[in-house]
Amino acid sequence: MTITGECFCSEIKYKVEGDLHDARSCHCSRCRKAFSSQASAYALVKEGEFEWVSGEELLTSYVGEHGFGLQFCSKCGSTLVGVYKGVVHGVTLGCLNGDPDIQLSRHVYVDSKASWELIADGVPQFKGAPPENA
Ligand SMILES: [Zn+2]
Ligand SMILES: [Zn+2]
Repeated sequence: MTITGECFCSEIKYKVEGDLHDARSCHCSRCRKAFSSQASAYALVKEGEFEWVSGEELLTSYVGEHGFGLQFCSKCGSTLVGVYKGVVHGVTLGCLNGDPDIQLSRHVYVDSKASWELIADGVPQFKGAPPENA
């Protein structure tokens, strides 16, 4: 399938020719800051299936430790993708258009969640890192 996404101001658009994988929400304090939210909402893309459609020149990057970074729109601030060593690794679920045919499969680092957050869905929760192959 073709999945599309774009930032809040619509200047930056991308497409994924394939499926998203391993949709997860991480509640650690770093992800809360990086996503400006109660948690991350993120899914992986396969290498070679992701392509920028427009506005790539407006992207700004923030690369943290271990070579993992985020790319966001310099005009509206939406965080669009995660990059690992310069290659797009996954997409933020909030910037997807329509139904990407995937659902969150796990909440991770729930022990670190914000005191004000209530997780009230039925998705499996892990206190820390997810188990291998989960
Ligand atoms: Zn934008
Ligand atoms: Zn996290």
